[in-house]
Amino acid sequence: MQELIKNLLVELGEDPNREGLLNTPKRVAKAYEFLTSGYRADIDQVLNNALFTVDYSEMVIVKDIDFYSLCEHHLLPFFGKCHVAYIPSNKVIGLSKIPRLVDVFARRLQVQERLTNQIADTIRDTIKPLGVAVVIEATHLCMAMRGVEKQNSFAVTSAMVGAFRDQGRTRMEFLELIKLRSIVPGLQHHQAGLACIGED
Ligand code: ZN
Repeated sequence: MQELIKNLLVELGEDPNREGLLNTPKRVAKAYEFLTSGYRADIDQVLNNALFTVDYSEMVIVKDIDFYSLCEHHLLPFFGKCHVAYIPSNKVIGLSKIPRLVDVFARRLQVQERLTNQIADTIRDTIKPLGVAVVIEATHLCMAMRGVEKQNSFAVTSAMVGAFRDQGRTRMEFLELIKLRSIVPGLQHHQAGLACIGED
């Protein structure tokens, strides 16, 4: 990877041998390794020691989970907050594992919709809850920094499964708890305001 970064610096019109750039290929390689470490993480290993059987069927919410990801179209960051909720049927996930799960999927090349769905699908498949909801609010630097359609650099995506999809009241309760009421009228299943998709 370091050789590629060195070549990239040359292509950008830089001198990779000047002092400030000497260690850049090494640093960039290390940074990318970390930012894509989700490819090498084992979801089962992350979750398996933290699944508990319970007699509890109220909504579990973990909100305002900070995340940082890379858009797969431009390899530029998108980042923001992720809110996760589920209604257990008989199993719960240790609360600290939810942010960890978000990180596993965020530390890959992503689009916001897929990141949202992967988190919801994993929780659905792992503990078979009565419902799962994931909402992600993110700023996309590929939009903001390039000066194109700045108004679309912020996007909200959601994945609603089971009770959150079928029962308006459950969905509203969740959205009210994460204080997204202002966008509720436009919020639908998998709806997204992303402009980076299909863009060059
Ligand atoms: Zn992008």
